[in-house]
Amino acid sequence: MSQQLQRVVITGGAGFLGSHLCDRFLAEGWEVICMDNLVTGDLRNIGHLVGESRFHFFHQDVTEFIHVPGKVDAVMHFASPASPLDYLELPIQTLKVGALGTHKALGLAREKGARFLLASTSECYGDPLVHPQREDYWGNVNPVGPRGVYDEAKRFAEAMTMAYHRYHKVRTRIVRIFNTYGPRMRLNDGRALPAFMSQALRGEPITVFGDGSQTRSFCYVDDLIDGIYRLLHSDEVYPVNIGNPNEMTIKEFAERIARLVGTTSPIIYKDLPVDDPKQRRPDISKARRVLGWEPKFDLDTGLAKTLAYFRERLDAPLAKGPRG
Ligand code: NAD
Repeated sequence: MSQQLQRVVITGGAGFLGSHLCDRFLAEGWEVICMDNLVTGDLRNIGHLVGESRFHFFHQDVTEFIHVPGKVDAVMHFASPASPLDYLELPIQTLKVGALGTHKALGLAREKGARFLLASTSECYGDPLVHPQREDYWGNVNPVGPRGVYDEAKRFAEAMTMAYHRYHKVRTRIVRIFNTYGPRMRLNDGRALPAFMSQALRGEPITVFGDGSQTRSFCYVDDLIDGIYRLLHSDEVYPVNIGNPNEMTIKEFAERIARLVGTTSPIIYKDLPVDDPKQRRPDISKARRVLGWEPKFDLDTGLAKTLAYFRERLDAPLAKGPRG
């Protein structure tokens, strides 16, 4: 008798990270149910999977009741607007998917006896007073600022996940994702990398917010997905940071991209958004210890792969997704 396939439900599966997760699980031999309402996602991210018999797309809002026929071995909860531009434009949906969506996804995992993994975020640390950020730092978040809708939704989602673990004994995992980049980011999602790359490719001035001295640490998507896959299969219940500790200022990052693209576009400076974190770098000693994971892609390799994707996108005819 043939062995039954492992089945995973990936919420937010048509988004940037979710679509890479779909690829990874399919490559590992799983059957994949991708669930998305396309609010910030794009069907083009999963277009290459159409016709794959182990891949299914459910057009569904995960804040509503979720029903999946048959067994489920893992639920990966990635649905949520994720870029500042998106969650500032969709504040209520962001809070709902972090709260009600997480509750529904946990309910599915509980009903099916499946493992559950929450995509949380370094934004849980807010504008951190501790540097670099370790998992045992509780954060410095402004609940009533505009970014509070995202940060607090994720903090609530973590608390809900732990409650399901403690009360219902669901096998839960929490990943705190730090800034990740790679192919399938949206060109106009307002994050630094797509903005810098598309401006540089179009020969427009590169817009840096503030004086550019704020720092970020950028992780290539394949490294992140590998860390997440390992975490799902580990026994670690408490949050694990996954990110690249290679920290640089936003100004350096803009200059690096300009050099790579070969543009002479000037860098221009605009006002810093409210509560923008001044520095961000993951401490990944826990991921090293419990997952045997660390990032493998250096910035130049990752940027070159991403640039190839952006060039193709900018050349493509105007086959626009729901949000550009
Ligand atoms: P994304 O916007 O590309 O993907 C999110 C997906 O969720 C989209 O396809 C969107 O349509 C879907 N979605 C949103 N609300 C939904 C709902 N109610 N029902 C069903 N689908 C819904 O963003 P991303 O960068 O791929 O982020 C994925 C996850 O990872 C998010 O939970 C985000 O908070 C987390 N994360 C991402 C980063 C990063 O650097 N990209 C960093 C930290 C955390």
